[in-house]
Formats: sequence, C-alpha cells, structure tokens
Amino acid sequence: MQASPQLALRQAKEIDKAIAGGKKLALLAGIPAAIKDAILVKDFNNTAASLILENFHSAQDATAVAKLREEGAVFLGRTNLDEFAMGSSTEHSAYKITRNPLDVERVPGGTSGGSAAAIAAGECVFALGSDTGGSIRQPAAFCGVVGLKPTYGRVSRYGLIAHASSLEQIGPMAKNVDDCEIVFDAIAGQDPKDSTSVDPEFPISNFQFPNIKIGIPKEYFGRGLDKDIKKAVLETAGKLEKQGVKIEEISLPNAEYALPCYYIIVPSEASANLARFDGIRYGKSEKAENLFGVYAKTRGRGLGEEVKRRIMLGTFALSSGYYDAYYLKAQKARTLIKRDFETAFEKVDFLLTPVSPFQPFKIGEKINDPLKMYLSDVYTISINLAGVPALSMPIPKAKVENMPVGLQIIGPHFSEKNIFHLAKAIEQL
Ligand code: GLN
Repeated sequence: MQASPQLALRQAKEIDKAIAGGKKLALLAGIPAAIKDAILVKDFNNTAASLILENFHSAQDATAVAKLREEGAVFLGRTNLDEFAMGSSTEHSAYKITRNPLDVERVPGGTSGGSAAAIAAGECVFALGSDTGGSIRQPAAFCGVVGLKPTYGRVSRYGLIAHASSLEQIGPMAKNVDDCEIVFDAIAGQDPKDSTSVDPEFPISNFQFPNIKIGIPKEYFGRGLDKDIKKAVLETAGKLEKQGVKIEEISLPNAEYALPCYYIIVPSEASANLARFDGIRYGKSEKAENLFGVYAKTRGRGLGEEVKRRIMLGTFALSSGYYDAYYLKAQKARTLIKRDFETAFEKVDFLLTPVSPFQPFKIGEKINDPLKMYLSDVYTISINLAGVPALSMPIPKAKVENMPVGLQIIGPHFSEKNIFHLAKAIEQL
C-alpha cells in the first residue's frame, strides 16, 4: 500500500475531536481503509498503476469513496493493481509488483491484489476493489479474504477509472463476511452521477437458512480445475446438504463461450475508454513535432504491454468489416450466457463454484503467457457478462498447497443480502 499519512492523520484527528465532543459517531468512524488506485480519491495520487497517469491528482472523490468519507472511514492509502485493471496477478503494475502476504513467492491475484494483500497483511480493516471479470473475487480467494462483486448498477461507477464500463463494479473487500456487508451497505445505492446505477424497487425475498436450493454448475468442475480445489468446494456443498440445504447439479450450457466472449467485449470497451489518455486531455504529455507525434509518443511510452495488446485487440474487433464477425457475435454470446443464469435461477437460489481453477501461482510464472493468465478468470468472468452478484470467501479450514481456498457464491440480480446471509452460514460450518 502506498500510504498517505498526512491525510489519514487529518481524518483521524477529526474523529478524535468528535469523540472528545461526545458527538454521535458515523458507521465507519475511524475505521482504517485502503482504496484501489483506480478509484478516485480527492487529493490522492490516482495512477491506475499506469505511467500515463503518474502524478495525476483528482479534484473529486468517486461516489463510493465520498460515501465512505461521510461515514467516517480513514483512508490510509492507495493499493496497487494491474495497470488499468487489466490482469490477474498485480504484476502488470507500471510501478511495483505486490506479493501475497501469506507466501511472498506467490502473487496476490489481481487486479485488486493490493487491496486483498493489504487486508490479509493486517494493514487495513477493509478496502475497495473493482471487478470487471474477477478482480475482487480472485485476489480475495488468493489472499484468504472476503470480496463481493455487486450486481451491475448496485454501486455507482462514478469515479472508477473506466476499463470496460458494461461489466465493472466497485465492491467491498474485508476480513470476514460481516465487515464486507457493512461496507457494501455504505457504498450501495442509486447515484445521479451514474445513469446505470439503480436502487432495486422490488422487495428482496429473505430466507431462513437452510431452506434454500443450491445449484452446482457442472461446467465449472470439469477439465482444468485443480482436483483438491474441486474436493474442497464439493465438501462444502456436502456439509450444507447435511444441514438441510438442497443441492442439485445444474448446467450453464454456454459457459465455454465466456472467455472468448469476454476477451472481445472487454478490449473493445477498453480501446474506446482509453482513447482519452492521449497526452492532450489527461495525464502525461510527450513533446513532438505534430499532434500525431504527441499521441504516438505519449501512448507509446505511457502505456504498458498488456494495455497496448488490449487496445489493439479492441480496435481490431470494432473496425468496420470485422465488427459483425467479432463484436456483434460476442454480444450475442453474452445474451446466451446471461440467459443461462436466468434459467438456472428459476430452479435454484444460489450457485456454488470455485473462484479460480488453480491456487495462487508463483511470481513470474504466467506473466509472459497472456492466455495462461486469462484462464485465471474462467469461473469469474461470466458473472460480469451476466451482471449478477457474486461473493468470494475462503472455505473455512480448507488449505490446498498450504494456502486458503476460495469459494464463489453467485445469486440472481440484487440478491446481495441473501448472498451475505448464506456466506455467514458457511463461515460457521
Ligand atoms: N483478469 C481479468 C482481466 O484481465 C479481470 C480484470 C478485472 O476484473 N478488472 O480483464
């Protein structure tokens, strides 16, 4: 974490004053938090781990940050990520890598690896992350903490440095489910500054544990999944069944299209979103003979390899002549994937799956092979394509390779409260 002691001390002093004055304290008064460096915090450095935004200071808070500030949270600093939230290991940061505090030879996951590591190392009580395809859930799993990717629209995206706008959400990360829920309650809600944000208008049904049905999607337990992770997840389902929960195997028949579909749609959106970093409007600017030279030099020097790869992929997929064959097809596949979830949730209340097909890998192991890195998200990305919420939590007492094992609970749109309810029951197993 890149600490900002002066700002934290200033906030802490205000809380001390409120306590001394006998004032009623806000929900998160004095609670130390860390914010992923892709979510704007007023007066902080906001780099998105990119050289192109080195020394960029924001004049505004992201809405989620403003809400935490109102509740009295103290911001200790910024957490590292993969540049512009593209990656799965926090090795793609332009500044430094982040190590997993549970085993410093391993990655903490990504892209919210800095937030997960800061919580696991006890540097803060909670953190904000963002999740386009697994960036809250996979690092939470790798570092043994809890993280929620909210329903699309449930938390304002205002002030999140945009990567792929139709998929990403800001979400809470914490040591346990209770803390995660408190932070979620603080940041959720409709925001006039984000036209895609909503407050659900319908009542959210509640249930009494164990009166629920859980689906085990068979496509998430096939080839490529570490056998010990599989065992740990299925054992958890078995324990729930013993308590009276109904467990049934179900199918998400289009699951195999999620990864190719994601890697067309996400780079396409990224190529459009990142066009603004051109040396004229934001961030660093390199001097050159003419305007084209400024663009080329600024982007050439300021953006990392993975970011450039995605801009090229996205620009290609959106270009005339290829649009129908790639982008439009991917959007159709996305609809099928979304329907799979809708059909599943007509039969069951939740889905239980692994978060990652493998345990935290070694630093350097996948960095030179983008395809291997992309496979990290094979169980998390379809959730963003469908817009549904999902929580990642460590399976109680489970260890594989001496590291915690992540469990993913997926629910229908706006079922966050029910997910927390189930997650707390699992914590008690
Ligand atoms: N690892 C995925 C990617 O590289 C997800 C990233 C994210 O959720 N921000 O796109």
